[in-house]
Amino acid sequence: MIALEDVAIAYGLGARTLVVVRDLTLSIAEGEAVGLVGESGSGKSTVLRAIAGLVPQAAGRITLAGREVRRQRTTAERKMVQMVFQDPYGSLHPNQTVDQILALPIAIHRLDRGEARIAQVLAEVGLGREHRYRYPHQLSGGQRQRVAIARALILEPRILLLDEPTSALDVSVQAEILNLLVRLRRDHGLTMLMVSHDLAVIAHLCERIGVMNHGRLLEITTATAMAHNQVSHDYTRQLLRSNAGFDRSGLALA
Ligand code: ADP
Ligand code: MG
Repeated sequence: MIALEDVAIAYGLGARTLVVVRDLTLSIAEGEAVGLVGESGSGKSTVLRAIAGLVPQAAGRITLAGREVRRQRTTAERKMVQMVFQDPYGSLHPNQTVDQILALPIAIHRLDRGEARIAQVLAEVGLGREHRYRYPHQLSGGQRQRVAIARALILEPRILLLDEPTSALDVSVQAEILNLLVRLRRDHGLTMLMVSHDLAVIAHLCERIGVMNHGRLLEITTATAMAHNQVSHDYTRQLLRSNAGFDRSGLALA
């Protein structure tokens, strides 16, 4: 569903060009969930942005659902890949009700049955009719993230890119949102790529985990291998140590 081959991603133009991701090769099967971990600034969000078509790749190939995509995405390609960000407060327009937030992608993509789609997607993310005409500030953090997930889902994407989707939430709410993602993945056969600095969060959703460091994918391992400290790179071991308690919380969540 997602294939990256020797991808490099850079910001800026001319002499100011800064390559922040290089030699990235990664493929993700349909319905699979893969996590990306690594310290801040290692290029995780940049990888998601490139897959979503928000930044161009400087080199290499990106293939989605078997077709190579260019920076200029077609409408169908844009619809296929949706993204959820860390901060639902920042990503939702403060002056729009939930209804308006969800109606916008329907209008942009000229989808039919708008009314039915909004009602259905709200139910799917666990929001009631009473939430539909509220503004973001009238919702809790968890409810706001549910709205952001609903907005992504309403276009019926095949790929969901999640950038620290639970980092801004309380621990109990984190688990609710994670469980929602697990269910949505199963019910829709969604392919997911999730960034998180919390290995326990990643292990709850993802079978495979990619470790990034300074713009490179150091290794791809599994949640199980990580929980048992069976990793090949020193850097990954270091990361495991800095996530002290991963074994415990990872197993508790799994
Ligand atoms: P991560 O998500 O792993 O914290 P990012 O992908 O956000 O890392 O950033 C990777 C590198 O790219 C960092 O050095 C960051 O400063 C740089 N970077 C991110 N966004 C931009 C941008 N819009 N313009 C220039 N540099 C950027
Ligand atoms: Mg980031």
